[in-house]
Amino acid sequence: MTGSEGALTCLVTGGNKGIGLETVRRLRAAGHVVYLGSRDLERGRLASEDVGARPVALDVTSEDSVRAAAGTILDEVEHLDVLVNNAGITGPLRDVHDYDATDAAAVMMTDVVGYVRVIHAFLPLLEQANDPRIVNVSSGLGSLTLAHDESRIESHAGTPLYSAAKSAINMLTVRYAQLLPGIRINAADPGMTATDLSGGEGHSVANGADAILAFALGGPDTPTGAYRDREGDLPW
Ligand code: NAP
Repeated sequence: MTGSEGALTCLVTGGNKGIGLETVRRLRAAGHVVYLGSRDLERGRLASEDVGARPVALDVTSEDSVRAAAGTILDEVEHLDVLVNNAGITGPLRDVHDYDATDAAAVMMTDVVGYVRVIHAFLPLLEQANDPRIVNVSSGLGSLTLAHDESRIESHAGTPLYSAAKSAINMLTVRYAQLLPGIRINAADPGMTATDLSGGEGHSVANGADAILAFALGGPDTPTGAYRDREGDLPW
């Protein structure tokens, strides 16, 4: 059993840009060993150079790719303290009439199936750590309560498939947290953050990564099965 003293070993999927890269940067700044997962290894290498991370090829839609990444980390450090499930896509943005099952499958394959695939590939490594954590990067768009609140931007979003994927991530978080009490498993909402995914709208990536870092590196009172943004608990 390793991990609670000194540097933690962390993995961030989709770490080559946006909120993922900021998360990698902050974990590195806190002195931890960070594997930067990127579906394109060259993009991952370039991003890793800037922040002193270890690049690892990881496409969440590929079983072979995810297994190979887990094999690399197993060979090098034999455990994982922090998994940040971050890689995500909105899928195409269309008039609601024009969405089809192919769009739905693409979004779910990355944003939901991808998270599950990564969790299971790294579970044996997480279970070797002293205080393992999984941070599932969700969104306020995954909240059924906020979707019914006219005063909230979430109730006006034109992204039904992406929102449904984030609701699924929230339920996965709750159920996995209940079923795996030895791992703190939480859902973080970055809030609208200026990245390629949001078309540059929103607050800084520093703000966007706050809730992720709080779950990843929080002290002994860090919960499990929680859903928070940088301000605190969100309604499910
Ligand atoms: P981003 O800048 O577009 O970055 C997305 C990352 O995911 C990129 O590294 C991308 O890699 C990676 N990715 C996409 N598909 C992948 C795959 N199949 N395998 C591995 N990596 C893959 O977006 P972001 O805003 O930082 O989003 C990060 C997370 O925050 C997502 O889960 C998103 O849903 C969530 N979020 C964002 C906002 C926001 O306003 N930005 C708000 C709430 C939640 P490539 O560079 O290869 O494309």
